[in-house]
Formats: sequence, structure tokens, C-alpha cells
Amino acid sequence: MAKRDYYEVLGLAKNASDDEIKKAYRKLAMKFHPDRNPDSKDAEEKFKEVKEAYEMLSDAGKREAYDRFGHAGVDPNAGGGPGGGGGFGDVFGDIFGDIFGATQGGRGQRSNVYRGADLRYSMEITLEQAAQGYETEIRVPSWDSCEPCKGSGAKPGTKAQTCRACNGQGAVRVQQGFFSIQQTCPTCHGSGKVIPEPCEACEGVGRVKKTRTLQVKIPAGIDEGMRIRSAGNGEPGVNGGPSGDLYVEIHLKDHAVFKRDGDDLHCEVPVLITVAALGGAIKVPTLSGDAEIELPEGTQGGKTFRLRGKGIKGVRSSYPGDLYAHIIVETPVRLTDKQRQLLRELEATLKDDRHSPQTRSWKDKVKEFFQ
Ligand SMILES: [Zn+2]
Ligand SMILES: [Zn+2]
Repeated sequence: MAKRDYYEVLGLAKNASDDEIKKAYRKLAMKFHPDRNPDSKDAEEKFKEVKEAYEMLSDAGKREAYDRFGHAGVDPNAGGGPGGGGGFGDVFGDIFGDIFGATQGGRGQRSNVYRGADLRYSMEITLEQAAQGYETEIRVPSWDSCEPCKGSGAKPGTKAQTCRACNGQGAVRVQQGFFSIQQTCPTCHGSGKVIPEPCEACEGVGRVKKTRTLQVKIPAGIDEGMRIRSAGNGEPGVNGGPSGDLYVEIHLKDHAVFKRDGDDLHCEVPVLITVAALGGAIKVPTLSGDAEIELPEGTQGGKTFRLRGKGIKGVRSSYPGDLYAHIIVETPVRLTDKQRQLLRELEATLKDDRHSPQTRSWKDKVKEFFQ
């Protein structure tokens, strides 16, 4: 059978870049890989052909020789060709390491020690709790080392034994047609140990689900979305690995009066139309009780007053933020005849624009617009 052109095998043009060669190889190797095509002689042949083409074209020297002299210029059996052992392992590790994950392509001496998973706990607190700091207990679902078997997974009085299928290596070589492939040991799932008599409390897992109660201190000034890390309070590690961390994620409940914007607070303060017109002291709520501000005569609706330092002192701030009081001028409703009468009398005296600065400026704009 005549040998196919290497570029043709990879479906590439003669001037293909290194990147294109790698991509084409990756795609075809995935398609014809023996793992995906068990018992297919045809796929195996194709895989070998693709691999050989890649080995030649990904090597600058070999590619140049091939470009000049064709198949006669390169000898695929020189140094680690197909079945040559070393060459296969290298290509396999390089290209497939990130596709199949770390369990394959390992060298059989993996320790199987893992760090425990991080846990996330979502906590809703009030604005007051966020401003002043807050201490509470939370119940966290978690894995804990199994008491009766001390985490070994073996029934008390028995022991885990070295896996015979892999001699405790955690990985085995399997022959698939032409190829020898290293896989996670299917008997012990990579741990290198088997448990003849599993612990009844944890069914041989060595860990049990438990609920733990933790004391959590929320620092004053914490804001929406911030996370508090509690080191080592996540899930326990596997085979002696370190525990993960616990993250408490803070969410603020909506407040009836205040809106928070960083360290600043905002609130709306309705005042009677007469108070806005005559001026006078009004009460403004703050997180630490009412404060008083003096409204000047003729205060317009929408006017904002800043109360310095009446906001929140953020976790990393040196000074507290401010409180902004937004004035809403209230129109009186459900008037008595007497009140209506008084307002009409008042209205008659207000015809002159000079009492209504907003109306005056609005009229000027409208006039300009229609000229
Ligand atoms: Zn094993
Ligand atoms: Zn147990």
C-alpha cells in the first residue's frame, strides 16, 4: 500500500503553520483515538497514520527533509516511532494531558492526596448588622472524618489492603491493540488500596456528612457581596491533604428607610409644603437615632442635605461616610373646606412669578423653545 502524503493525512496545505498542524492532529487524534474506538482496526490504523504524520511535520528538521525528498527523506522508524515506547508517552502527555485530565498519562506515582473542597455559605444580614458588626452561629453542611473507622473506610478491627490489580500504584497499563495505555486503576479508583470489609458507618468512604456549627464574626462596615474567609473550615482533605476553606458571602437585606452606596447612606424625608416654605427644624433618621437639620425658608423639593459622618464606616475606611437626606415636599390631601379656603386665599397672593423661582425659569425655557 502506498504511503499517503503527510499533509493529506492531516488535511492541510503544504504551507500550514505549526499551530495548524497541532490543531489538525489534535482533532484527528481525538477522533481515531483507541480509547474512543475500541476494537476498530481501521481507527487504529488511522490513528497511527495521523500520529506519524504529526511527528514528522511537527519537527522542523524532519518536515524540511520530507518537503524536499518526500517519504524517502524521513524514516519514521528512526528513534521512537510508533510502538517505540518513549515517543508515544511524550506526545500523549503533551497533547492529551489537558483533555483527559491528570488521571491518565500519570507516571504511576501519584500520591492521591487532595486538598478538601472550599465551601460557600450565603448569609443575609440587615443594614444595622452590617454597620455595627455582627456575631452569629452558622450551621454548615460538611464532610467529616468518620469516627468508627478513623477515616480509613475499613470496618473497625480490619484494615485496608494494597490493591493487587495495580500493586498499590493506583494506575495500570492496559493493552489496546497496538497501544499500551496507562489508566487509573479500575479496581481501587487510583487510591492503591482496597477495603475488604467496609466500615458500616461511612460505607467505606472514610467520611460522613455532618452539620457543623461555627461561630462567625462579621466585621463592622461589611458590604454586599463581600466574603469572609474562614481558613481550614471547608471540607477535609483526602488522604491527609489539607482542608479547604469556608467562605461566608454577605448579602444585605433591603432597608425600609436607607439605601446604601458604599460608605454613604441615602434616605428620603417628606416635609409639609408649609415647612418647606417657612423653613424650620426637621428630624432626619440616622442609624444612630434621629438627627435634626434646619430647613432654610423656601426649600425646594428634591433638595439634598448632607449629614457628615452619619453614613457607614467601611471595613477598610478610616472615616465613616455621609448620610444624604433627600427632601420631598408633600402636597396636603383630604382638605377641609376651611383649608381649601385658606389655600385659595394664599394662591391669590402668589400670582406673581417672583414667589415661584422654578415656574419662572421653566416659563423662560418654554418661551425660548417656541420662538
Ligand atoms: Zn488498584
Ligand atoms: Zn467509617
